[in-house]
Amino acid sequence: MHEMGIAQELVQIALNALPADLKDPRVASLNLRIGKLSSVVPHSLTFCFEIITKDTPLESAQLNIEMVPVRIRCNTCDREWEADTPVFRCPDCEKSQIELLSGREIDIVSLELSE
Ligand SMILES: [Zn+2]
Repeated sequence: MHEMGIAQELVQIALNALPADLKDPRVASLNLRIGKLSSVVPHSLTFCFEIITKDTPLESAQLNIEMVPVRIRCNTCDREWEADTPVFRCPDCEKSQIELLSGREIDIVSLELSE
């Protein structure tokens, strides 16, 4: 389950982002963007997150996960489209000069502190 490592990394980033002068900060929610090609299973990530955030400022924080579609661009004919799986060839011009615009990200968009 590679979600555990990802959860640990995200928690570390979130902890580092907390204002240092805040006493006993509490995170209410953490908003993530996760690409469909990142092979992260959202409920596994949430499960790992809940385990490792115990006794940290992120304990009981709500994890909001937005799944980002896979967007692909063909550099030969400039076509852009969405796909569910990786594609290696443009369906229009059949060239393979294609570029992945999104779909692999695992990003923290924002986090909200409790009052
Ligand atoms: Zn093309």
